[in-house]
Amino acid sequence: MRSPIWHPFTQHGLGEPIPLITRAEGASLYTQDGDRIVDAISSWWVTTHGHAYPPIARAIAEQAGKLDQLIFAGWTHQPAQDLAEGLVGITGLPYAFFSDSGSTCVEVALKMALGHWRHLGQGQRQRIAVMQHSYHGDTIGAMSIGERGVYNAAYEPLLFAVDTVPFPHAGAEQATYDALAAFCASDDAAGFIVEPLVLGAGGMLFYPPAVLAEMARICAAHGVLFIADEVMTGWGRTGTMLACDQAGVRPDILCLAKGITGGALPLAVTMASEAIYESHYAPDRSKTFFHSSSYTANAIACAAAVANLGVWRDEPVQQRIDTLAARQAAGAAMLANVAGVENVRQCGTILALDYHVPQGGYLSGLQPRLLAFFRERGLLIRPLGNTAYLMPPYSITPEDLTSCHQALAEAVELLA
Ligand SMILES: *Cc1c(COP(=O)(O)O)cnc(C)c1O
Repeated sequence: MRSPIWHPFTQHGLGEPIPLITRAEGASLYTQDGDRIVDAISSWWVTTHGHAYPPIARAIAEQAGKLDQLIFAGWTHQPAQDLAEGLVGITGLPYAFFSDSGSTCVEVALKMALGHWRHLGQGQRQRIAVMQHSYHGDTIGAMSIGERGVYNAAYEPLLFAVDTVPFPHAGAEQATYDALAAFCASDDAAGFIVEPLVLGAGGMLFYPPAVLAEMARICAAHGVLFIADEVMTGWGRTGTMLACDQAGVRPDILCLAKGITGGALPLAVTMASEAIYESHYAPDRSKTFFHSSSYTANAIACAAAVANLGVWRDEPVQQRIDTLAARQAAGAAMLANVAGVENVRQCGTILALDYHVPQGGYLSGLQPRLLAFFRERGLLIRPLGNTAYLMPPYSITPEDLTSCHQALAEAVELLA
């Protein structure tokens, strides 16, 4: 009998198993039957410290019994106040606009950028530039600025046109800079949005901080808005709180979601510069920022995020990240010697590699076989095509991480 649940990014027609999870702790998921599964991808990049992390779970329970939800147009509450202040301190950007997912905080960023120019009397600035292989979410606007392909082909008529700069492959960075500069020089350039240091869903593609800094410099030189989508890279994933920190870059608009609550509840924030806020600030109602959703700044989600800031303040989070990064580096060194494994790369807590795929339409078949291979070993590792990666919660044990490294190495048997 078919389940009434229609799962995301799941082809139910393949009849693949859908395990039922009843409990989670640290980097462990427990099935109905008591089996333990290592969550090596932080349940799709959200869980930072670990599942059901006690200080965050406590804050959620407490807030739920006090003030759950409040209309946020014209009203406010303490968890949102505390969170916004904390985020200003972390990002160096003075204003926080709340929403509830990575996709929506990206939509908000795009609307802020176009509103900014319109309110300044430069309404011709309507064009957005993006990086090749980018991913910014699955709503219509977020899809429009992401890589086009099988995932959005059916919705193509709904997507708006963007300029695309090439991915800055090592040695070919100048092509990226030239394309970005050409875009910035055009009259209709509004902003450039990019995932700092790591393009996640596009295949875990990494580029160095110096490239990020140069792209930000080019935008600033032309007065074009630089928008950083740190939905995935934020909250320590790349080794620092924000990936932008490694490049000394302060964007005009910054998108945060996923790890903002430690991964416990959906919440997102779009941080804006003084100039962006200022262009909307007027006695004129037509310059109001017209965006909201029912659960904007949900008080329970904000309390979870405030508790997450507390974890960062009170616990040795950076030390855990450094330790995890060092273990990932050791794993990467081991994997680099495995035949069939290519492009082993590491950025902070993230390790990624490509399996060598021989010529011929072999590619399509590998991903589900890899998925099954890891599942049989009790590991939640979900490859992107022939690219496998680990992005575990920071509390993953050294033993579990080693099991993941070994499984990544052993999976080359599927290539035979
Ligand atoms: C996951 C992701 C998004 C979308 O976030 P959702 O919460 O899934 O809507 C946007 N940008 C990046 C870089 C992401 O990794």
